[in-house]
Amino acid sequence: MSDAQDIGTVLAAVLDDPYGSIAPPIAQSSLFAFDSYQAFEDRMAARSDQAMYTRVQNPTVAAFEGLMAQAEEGGAAVGFASGMAAISSTLLAFAKPGDRIACIEHVYPDTYRFMERMLRPFGVITEYHPPAAFEDDPDLLDGVRLAYLESPSSVVFQAMNLAKVAEHARRHGTLTITDNSWATPVFQRPLTLGIDIVLHSASKYISGHSDTVAGVVVSSQEHIAQIRDLTLSLLGAKLAPFEAFLLTRGLRTLAARMRQHQATANLFVDRLAALPQVRGVNSPGSNDVPGLAGRSGLMSVEFDETVDIPRFSDALRHFRLGVSWGGFESLILPARVGLAQAGEKNSMQKFGVSPNLVRLSLGLERAEDLWADFISALNESVT
Ligand SMILES: *Cc1c(COP(=O)(O)O)cnc(C)c1O
Repeated sequence: MSDAQDIGTVLAAVLDDPYGSIAPPIAQSSLFAFDSYQAFEDRMAARSDQAMYTRVQNPTVAAFEGLMAQAEEGGAAVGFASGMAAISSTLLAFAKPGDRIACIEHVYPDTYRFMERMLRPFGVITEYHPPAAFEDDPDLLDGVRLAYLESPSSVVFQAMNLAKVAEHARRHGTLTITDNSWATPVFQRPLTLGIDIVLHSASKYISGHSDTVAGVVVSSQEHIAQIRDLTLSLLGAKLAPFEAFLLTRGLRTLAARMRQHQATANLFVDRLAALPQVRGVNSPGSNDVPGLAGRSGLMSVEFDETVDIPRFSDALRHFRLGVSWGGFESLILPARVGLAQAGEKNSMQKFGVSPNLVRLSLGLERAEDLWADFISALNESVT
């Protein structure tokens, strides 16, 4: 998939619809009846793959899964009710008590909580390492069952050489999983770099409109079959047909949206560097690591001590304060809000981030409007 055109072409191929619909029909049905006893028995005996029950299979969901498999260049895909459902169902399908997981530091905060609060009590032990350790230590994965990666990572957006890590992992028989929500298949296709399993919070760029919470996993047919048989059907966190419809709609504009996010992000990166209040910008771009072909609109900026961050946040007009990202509207999430999160530690609290960091999700508004808003809020909040 190199541009938006390709996704539309592929859509016709994955739709099995007698009316010639251009958009996938929403199969809002819990079950699908069989024409004969024989057809029913064939399905139960896995001699056919006719849709039977929406917890495990649905035509609208299958259309989205087909598109995602093509986009990520995988053998198959499976949708989930959320990114966290995709992550937890994938880890539970492959990890068993006594296994070790190697995970990047600064992983998505709830993924860290899943490792610590859900997997550790079941005897699956996760160790955390900086991205460079995965690349530079060829024996890091010795005896490790699963490597759990994000490139770039959350909050501090450190990108890594996935091909190099995949090579080390293959030597140790370690299964590699990468969260590709930030780059999307438009800018990075981890399976082509040797990663075994790629997953997404489809709530972000794939949906693209801040109106859906969903997840998806793409891998070989064998790995996806294992997830379907085990955790999709037995934990049951399936993707709903209507949400699959919205995601298919999102995919059709994904490449066009990513180009626009990149143009705005490039403008910000160029101009932020010249501001005296800015200590650093975390925003990997095209070719910063092998296999990364673009810069998305999600980045973080570290200010110096002169910027009053609550005041800056409140002074913004276009940027709304909120979690999540990847939609039309620009958002700001100050790191100190993440650091204030109650309950079990999250990865930001565990591995430490500067309280002067703010995460920006640059949306699809006019770039010059966003920049003017940013500068005007900054001028109001320098002490
Ligand atoms: C949001 C997010 C998730 C979790 O996805 P949900 O759809 O909110 O469950 C996972 N990984 C990353 C990188 C995310 O940003």
